[in-house]
Amino acid sequence: MTLSPAGTQDARQVWSAVLGHLELQVTRPSFHTWLKDTVGIRVSETDIVVGTPNTFVAEMLEQRMYSLITDSVNHVLKSQLDVRFIVTSAEELTPESPSDLPINHRNNDSQDSEKSRIPYRRISLNHKYQFDTFVSGKSNELAYAASVAVSQKPGLVYNPLTIYSDVGLGKTHLLHSIGHAASVAGRSFIYVTTEEFTNEYVRSIREGNTEAFRDRYRSVDMLLLDDVQFLIGKEQTQEGFFHTFNSLHMLNKQIVITSDRPVAKLNLLERRVRSRLSGGLVVDIQRPDLETRMAILSKKLEIANRQCDSSVTDFLAERLSSNIRELEGGLNRVFAYSEITQRPLSIELAQQALSDAYLDEKSTPISPDEIIEAVSEYFNVEFSSLTGPRGRKEVALARQIAMHLIKADTDLGPTAIGQALGGKNHSTVIKNCSKISARLVTDLSLQRDISNIRNLILS
Ligand code: ADP
Ligand code: MG
Repeated sequence: MTLSPAGTQDARQVWSAVLGHLELQVTRPSFHTWLKDTVGIRVSETDIVVGTPNTFVAEMLEQRMYSLITDSVNHVLKSQLDVRFIVTSAEELTPESPSDLPINHRNNDSQDSEKSRIPYRRISLNHKYQFDTFVSGKSNELAYAASVAVSQKPGLVYNPLTIYSDVGLGKTHLLHSIGHAASVAGRSFIYVTTEEFTNEYVRSIREGNTEAFRDRYRSVDMLLLDDVQFLIGKEQTQEGFFHTFNSLHMLNKQIVITSDRPVAKLNLLERRVRSRLSGGLVVDIQRPDLETRMAILSKKLEIANRQCDSSVTDFLAERLSSNIRELEGGLNRVFAYSEITQRPLSIELAQQALSDAYLDEKSTPISPDEIIEAVSEYFNVEFSSLTGPRGRKEVALARQIAMHLIKADTDLGPTAIGQALGGKNHSTVIKNCSKISARLVTDLSLQRDISNIRNLILS
């Protein structure tokens, strides 16, 4: 790649090429956490300036990932540049979307617009997450229809609306779509992640201005709260949420919430909060079937204005079935791989791009204890009741699932598995494992449990 005169546009392109390379070097979670939201700001003969969403990310990249990053810069640009990190504003971080709205969108008076510039409220709606870029299929049609309905008749049809699913299946996409629709209709709303909500609430208590916090939240037509599971264990914030919720609900203001688990499984959430959520409509999003996955890939290609032989997309749709973020990431990775290696798109290339990307995940073997721990967390049973000698009936299924997973994901044989799980003998292990395998063919909820547990292990 050659450098033309320093300019923002160049910096963006250069940095996204570097990101394409880095995405192949680091694990998916770390790419997602540290790199995904960075943007090239300036590039010169000697250095490149990279914008990050906050100082935390900037420090992390500088202190922990610096050499990896400069290596990638060298690799992509074939020249040694210094990399500098700065904290950028939300506008700079979402450059392609001049129409993006600040998260606290409403008819501000001057005092309010001062408030909406408080630095920690910087997330804006992603312009890519709209209803018309959302592909609806069997797995998500209810959530989609409910989201459209609350956009059209906020506060009147389903209130609150709670959308839950595993990660990467479109909750945030729908929530942003509702925000966009609200702004087109001239309605005020707040989109906030539960983490930001918590930070703001805690800060308002510390600074003694809970009043202002309450007023701000109470004054909007719609509250869109993402990832409510992060309220778990935060009793003080649950209190704040509960009161915010009640004030808005009483005024028939629409509330939409997402969660990565069913409301009933938000067990550490106070009962009164849970019962508020169950009082509205709760819809879930399942994993997409093959047909929907293919439709999503075509949509993504259409949006990116790129072409790709259907054999390659079929391959990706078949291989990447667990979530849509992964599916999208796979498509991007294949394009990046083709650009970096200067080879045409083909199934072989796609295979290679995927196997490289998943290498580091596969290379760390999973231990039986990690599996048992995940199973115990998922079913909310004691670790020791899975590994102890006398099994209560209630934990029988959890124990069978643990057997199945250890057999599938580790090198342990049936005898060792039996020992790890309460001293069962090897024929019991074999029998239980076949039972689970047989059920898995048709039992969707079991399939879902197993995939949730695998996600827990990976996270
Ligand atoms: P979640 O919030 O459930 O973890 P996201 O909403 O962040 O998932 O979705 C992950 C990625 O997948 C996003 O890039 C999103 O645009 C995309 N995505 C999810 N569902 C769909 C869909 N039905 N159609 C198109 N893209 C989707
Ligand atoms: Mg999300």
